[in-house]
Amino acid sequence: MDRTALDPMTARARDLDARAELRATRARFRLPAGVIYLDGNSLGALPDSVPAAIAEVTTQEWGERLIRSWNEAGWWEAPLRVGDQVGRLVGAAPGQVVVTDSTSVNLFKLMVGAARLRPGRTLVLTDPDSFPTDLYLAHSVARLLDLELRRVSPTDAVAAIAEAADSLALAAFSHVDYRTGERWDLAGITAAAHRVGALVCWDLCHSAGAMEVGLDEAEVDLAVGCGYKYLNGGPGAPAFAYVAERHQAVFDQPLPGWTGHARPFAMTAGYVPAPGIARLRSGTPPLLSLLALEAALGAFDGVSPAGLRRQSLSLTTLFIEAVDALEQSLEVVTPREPDRRGSQVSLRHPDAFAIVQALIARGVIGDFREPDLIRLGFAPLYVTHADAVQAARQLGEVLDSGEFRRPEFSHRGAVT
Ligand SMILES: *Cc1c(COP(=O)(O)O)cnc(C)c1O
Repeated sequence: MDRTALDPMTARARDLDARAELRATRARFRLPAGVIYLDGNSLGALPDSVPAAIAEVTTQEWGERLIRSWNEAGWWEAPLRVGDQVGRLVGAAPGQVVVTDSTSVNLFKLMVGAARLRPGRTLVLTDPDSFPTDLYLAHSVARLLDLELRRVSPTDAVAAIAEAADSLALAAFSHVDYRTGERWDLAGITAAAHRVGALVCWDLCHSAGAMEVGLDEAEVDLAVGCGYKYLNGGPGAPAFAYVAERHQAVFDQPLPGWTGHARPFAMTAGYVPAPGIARLRSGTPPLLSLLALEAALGAFDGVSPAGLRRQSLSLTTLFIEAVDALEQSLEVVTPREPDRRGSQVSLRHPDAFAIVQALIARGVIGDFREPDLIRLGFAPLYVTHADAVQAARQLGEVLDSGEFRRPEFSHRGAVT
């Protein structure tokens, strides 16, 4: 690598950071010194507001007020209250999002509920390259309900949907591919499904908190997403589920628990679903994690999804340019067209795993995805343009020096 290749970009990055619309939001996070954090698409960074909020919840609400906090501190309503906050970030009007369970569990609830809304239809479409949990659950739902699961790339989804016609119950896709960072045509695929009378379920794990999603505008039926990625809710934060208002009154989800009952404290033997999105609730929510997520969402105050998207694209565009300037044998797998790009950049290299470990040793934290991808996420609230150029510089040095070949960088922990 020509060691000076990135120098002009460093100055440009500084200038972009000084003028960025989101220049003030990084200060809302606690990031360790010397770390460039490019894994917010896997575990978001810690918002500064969270530790004090959790201390208050544990010492005051739980410690002092004990069970009274279910009423006094608004614990009972928290899944819907926090749901509305998430709703703002994904383009959902209030009353359509609930924060509950994990993405995996919510996928099950929504996919079964979707099939029950389309009785007699026998086909479910999904992407063969989906995140594994999405595939496992789609397969299980198909077995349970005796449906056919057809795997088709989102590239071919519109044609496959038209061909399936009135046999199609549900098209279930991810908005952004977790591996390649490709962003799919949510509005186009949704419209195609509606033309044949089918429903859509979108997985927003890699888009919520990083870009506009526009659920209501695109007339999406159902959606799920993570609380711990770009939403920064912390490890194991509960996920969210969206059911469009027009489906709620008849939405019949398969894990009806007492907290989703119309009158939970009547303790009746028969299940009567709550009106509205509350029927998606099953059991008692993980309050500490849920309230951590609520505090974390404060980091989005005054920030619009469009502003997140502008910052995200500005960061990934600059990073791709910097990677190109390295002139290394790295393939940029993520689409270069901004419209088709999520908020990450994935680079292909046969030694991807060891390169990621060597970068982490230098304080540039990204992750590896099988079989050969270096995956770097650009969380728009706290990653800077200077980080993007510096990360590329470190990557160039790791490759030039060959240090990634050191034996310690090929050791695999339980989590990659
Ligand atoms: C992160 C992610 C998940 C994770 O599901 P959990 O139930 O939270 O473990 C699921 N689907 C996609 C597409 C993801 O990116």
